[in-house]
Order: sequence, then C-alpha cells, then structure tokens
Amino acid sequence: MRVSTVLRMLLGLCRATVITGWVLDRSGHRPTLVAWVRCRADAPGRCGRCGRRGPGYDQGDGARRWRHVDVGFARCVLEGPAPRVNCSRCGPTVAVVPWARHDTVFTRAFEDVVVHDAVRSNKASAARRHGVTWRAVDGMCTRLLAEAMDRVDLLEGLIAVAIDEVKSKKGQRYLTVVSDPFTGRVVWVTEGRSKATVGAFFDALGSQRAAELEIVTTDGAEWIRTVVATRAPNAEICLDTFHAMTWATKALDEVRRDLWRRLKGKTAAKAIKGLRWPLLRNWANLTIAQRDTIRELETTNRRLFRGWLLKEELADIFRMPIRQARRALDDWLHYASRSRLEPFVRLARTIRHYRDSIEATIEWGFTNGIAEANNSVIGRIRRNANGFHNPAAFITMIMLDRGGLGPDLPWTP
Ligand SMILES: [Zn+2]
Repeated sequence: MRVSTVLRMLLGLCRATVITGWVLDRSGHRPTLVAWVRCRADAPGRCGRCGRRGPGYDQGDGARRWRHVDVGFARCVLEGPAPRVNCSRCGPTVAVVPWARHDTVFTRAFEDVVVHDAVRSNKASAARRHGVTWRAVDGMCTRLLAEAMDRVDLLEGLIAVAIDEVKSKKGQRYLTVVSDPFTGRVVWVTEGRSKATVGAFFDALGSQRAAELEIVTTDGAEWIRTVVATRAPNAEICLDTFHAMTWATKALDEVRRDLWRRLKGKTAAKAIKGLRWPLLRNWANLTIAQRDTIRELETTNRRLFRGWLLKEELADIFRMPIRQARRALDDWLHYASRSRLEPFVRLARTIRHYRDSIEATIEWGFTNGIAEANNSVIGRIRRNANGFHNPAAFITMIMLDRGGLGPDLPWTP
C-alpha cells in the first residue's frame, strides 16, 4: 500500500482528498505531522458559502492550514490551496474543501471531536484537552449547531409537546424549554418565561402544525396554559406529574417546618430537623435506617406521618391505571382536605383545580416526567459550565445535548 493511501486512511480523509506530500515537523515539544492536501483535479469548484457550482476565480490567499485530529503523539495539520470560485450569488468565495467547513482554521473531523467532548463535559475541559482556546470551542459549538439546525427541523411531525421553564442562572432568570415527551428530545428553547415566549414557540411551529398537536403537558403555570388553549386548539392539556409531586413534597416540608418551629428549643425539634431528606425522598431510595425512622413517626409524630403518607399515596396514584387512579384520587382528595394539615388542604384544592389535566396525564402514561429528566440534565449542563454568562451559549449547549444535534465522533459508522 502506498504511503499516501496509508496516511489518508490514518487521517480519516475521504477519497475526494488527495495527499500530495507530508513532513514531520519536530521543532515543538510534540512533533507535528503536516500533510499537504488538495481536492481531486476533476472535482467541480463549489462556493463554500452556498454550495453552488462556480467557475474558478483565483488562488485566494494561497496555501492555508487547518488543525486536524491528533495522530498518536503527534499533532496534525493539513496544508493546502484554498482557491476561490466566482459564485453567481456570493461573488468571489473560497471554494468548498471536503476536509473542512467554510471559514474555519480547523478540519471538520477536529471540530466534531472537540464539540463532542464539549457537550459531554464542558467547553473549558474540551479546550484544555485539545489545546485550543475556550473561544475557539465556543465558536465551533455555535457553528455546528447552526449547521445541524439547517439540516433538521425538530418541529416537524410533533403530536405532543412538553412546555416547561428551567432556571438559567442564579436569581430569577429562566428559559422556556419545549420537548417531545415521546423521545425526550428538546425541540425548542428561548430566553425568558412569559406568555410571549410561549407565543414565540407557536409562531415558530406555525398554525397548521399547532393544530396537529394532540397533547401539551405543562406545569400548573397559567401563563402557559392560557396561550396553549388558544394556540393549540386540538390539544389536551396534561399536567406533568413531576410538578404535582413537587407541590406535594413542598407541602410536606411545610408541615415539617411548622412542627419544628413549634417545638423550637425542645429535643424533639432536633429530630425533626434531620428528617428533611428522608421525608422528601422517594421511599425506594431510602436506607433501611431512614425507613425505620419514618416508621417510628407513626407513634412519635402522627401529624408528620400523616403528611408523609399523603405524599407517598399521591406518588402511587400517578403510577396506577387510569380507572383505579380516578377512584384513588377521590379518596385522596377526601383525606387530604380533612387532614387538618393546612398545606395539604391547600394542595387538595390545587389538585381539584387541575384534576382534568392530571387525569389526562395518567391516561396518556406521561407519568415518568420528561420535564424532570430535562430539568436535571439541563441543571447538569449549567453546573458543568459553571454558569453561563450569556443565555444564547447555554441554549446552544442544551440543543447540542438534549436536542440530539451534537456531532458524532468522526469514526462513528
Ligand atoms: Zn455562493
């Protein structure tokens, strides 16, 4: 096999790329493999901006360099001509090259690897790992997302959406996040949370596709529900049970805090303070010792135990088949409103108010809470990035990760 063929395969370059020579530069502390490349002579010149064919114009600024994926211990650089074509739409423009995107000093494969790593960890660690600046990684993420968004329309063929709000950073900063509850994919994100942001989603969707929506799941926020009711006329509004469970945990925590305040100074107060997490967690995630503590409550603190039971029962109801759930919900509302625990009496009123939406959710089986999954993953993206200074950068990473628009590794079949 010829060396140039071996090299072409090692560097993962396609057949449209010709290697005309190579040299190993040993001046740095790591060797750099420089491979000279050009397009095949018979390939027609295409505009790098719009892809139209165009006649040759000139040799541009002469030879250019593109940083490529490392080869073993060596860094790798492709060097080659970047001639211009005379595009009928864009004017004189650098022609398409198969190894790189337009207007970048990195090869396509290198950018894919870096963005892939940035999505899985964060931009700073991808920048360190590949020896480029944070700003370069940021630019790659933006460019690759724009390219992917041109290729796929995430809003096509939706029959259900989940609309949710997610904290974007400390303080009252939020994003409105729309996802497909069947796939879990985030399909649309924007800054802010208001009737206007939900309206902007429906503008992007268009009235025809909005009419095809059969289900919209949201939390109890009225600002979402009113817009959905007018813009998606055929959709049934479901209440994500993740949110209903958040309300129940809040109610239980209020009961606990109230008791703690009343017992302040007494030894019993200390015990209640330590109960916060065991009470709020799912039963299934508790240790044996924590379970025993809760069982003891039945004799030591009836009020708290009653609250805990109400929370757990509600979680069970959300997992039941719809007919059974309806009966159980009747019972639950009856007990909760007579529980003499003020937070649960209020919760019962809220749940009555949203009852239709809750039952629709149980009926459709959206009980595992796509919003919960997205909330936690988006939280992880934010933590990994140590907070985002600008919301656009945060949205880019959400779409690359949760929107499934991040690149595969170049060697993925
Ligand atoms: Zn063009």
